[in-house]
Amino acid sequence: MSRTITSVVGGSPVTGGSTHTDVNPSDLADVVLEHGEADVAVAQQAVAAAAQAFPTWSRTTPWQRSEVLDKAGSEVLARADELGDLLAREEGKTLPEARGEVVRAGQILKYFAGAVLQPHGHQLDSVRPGVDVSVTREPIGVVSVITPWNFPIAIPAWKIAPALAFGNTVVFKPAELVPGSAWELVDILNRSGLPEGALNLVLGRGSSVGPTLTTDAAVNAVTFTGSVATGRLILDAPAPLGRKVQLELGGKNPLVIVDDADLALAVECLVQGGFGSTGQRCTASSFAVATDSIHDRLVEAVQERLGRWSVGDARTPGIDMGPVVDPSQLRQNQHYLDVARREGGEVLGGELVELDTEGHYMSPALVLGTSAGDTINREEVFGPVVSVVRVADYAEALAVANSSAMNLSAGICTTDLATAAHFRRNSRAGMVMVNLPTAGVDFHVPFGGRGDSSYGPREQGFAAIDFFTTSKTAYTLPGSPRN
Ligand code: NAD
Repeated sequence: MSRTITSVVGGSPVTGGSTHTDVNPSDLADVVLEHGEADVAVAQQAVAAAAQAFPTWSRTTPWQRSEVLDKAGSEVLARADELGDLLAREEGKTLPEARGEVVRAGQILKYFAGAVLQPHGHQLDSVRPGVDVSVTREPIGVVSVITPWNFPIAIPAWKIAPALAFGNTVVFKPAELVPGSAWELVDILNRSGLPEGALNLVLGRGSSVGPTLTTDAAVNAVTFTGSVATGRLILDAPAPLGRKVQLELGGKNPLVIVDDADLALAVECLVQGGFGSTGQRCTASSFAVATDSIHDRLVEAVQERLGRWSVGDARTPGIDMGPVVDPSQLRQNQHYLDVARREGGEVLGGELVELDTEGHYMSPALVLGTSAGDTINREEVFGPVVSVVRVADYAEALAVANSSAMNLSAGICTTDLATAAHFRRNSRAGMVMVNLPTAGVDFHVPFGGRGDSSYGPREQGFAAIDFFTTSKTAYTLPGSPRN
């Protein structure tokens, strides 16, 4: 018998209703767990519970909130192996990737345990004599946190931790495919001292419970990470005017490799950035832009590297890449390879892989011979697929890199300082990497994109306070203005 987990509202499990079976993408015969599916009524109860808990939680001291987050962070870090194993089993990233993500979640909780104790306001003299001006930060209220499946614990942590740190209460809806990691995070936080209802978990389908969580009059803010299509739905939905919205969406992330690049380093940046986490990363370097005289050497070296790339069960030690998360993502990856072929591209690899256990396996795919305007270079695949486009020189490479509509992350490999500095200044992406694989590990700095990739204030680190608080400017005349 597999374990059954449920939504959590007001600190209590929600029983009844239908259940859903979650299987391991590395081994479809392995049932990870069953989860009870929340309906609209549960979502409404979760919002009501968060609204009820807000006066209590928002009036706790920063130290009380810090203690909860610190304790939760310690437990996440202490259980990194166990939680990493669960994450690898339900999502399919390799054990080192999964464990690394859990550690990052623990570090994020610890970071916000410290951040909440920092000074956040201003005290100023007024332009009017004798008047004091103060600018303070206050919580927003009930925050809906809606997350995707590809980072099942880190993304929830980087939204929930600042939301709670700054005194908000939360309704959290994880992606349907990864309820286990979400449940563990909520359980740890609730046992670390949160009052009932400060953090609620809704395990439901986005199409069913999503509208309640994003438009209910009691929801003051929505922080969402997921696809551009769902992000647009949330933004366009009729909702109370004062609702704050933060969206982190898809990416089509160029990696420019110029003639003077260190070839071995460029290969690692491309292979790790493009195929790490099975390419299922919003920041994946799925779009390489190589200048003419390095292009062929790069392709040859990447092919040689991929010849030693192992695909297997996410929990097998030593493998490079786990399975694709589910059948629909696998179909999407194969569809984009077909489109690339139809548009004149050559596809190397990308075949379905059969192993001892039945899973959603494919080999990494390299797409050659397409041009910047082709579908494979415009749309997000979200799988282990990297396209390499040939350009004449750095100027063309920059123009092609900047033509991406989803400007989340961009990179360059070069040994020339002036080229690196020029790219950093002129890239249109929200995050720029120089001689490094694609973005994401630093939890103390802002994270986010531009263009179709992002909406609203940045996430993470010192930027998080902008979304999770609202400022108040107060003018005080302490007494009569004597002089
Ligand atoms: P998705 O948009 O399908 O789902 C994301 C979440 O939205 C899920 O929890 C889903 O249940 C929920 N949802 C679905 N319909 C909804 C609705 N009508 N109202 C409210 N919520 C709804 O995305 P996904 O397939 O889970 O994730 C993959 C996408 O996420 C990719 O595009 C990837 O680039 C993006 N992503 C972006 C970042 C970033 O920081 N920019 C990070 C990770 C993933």
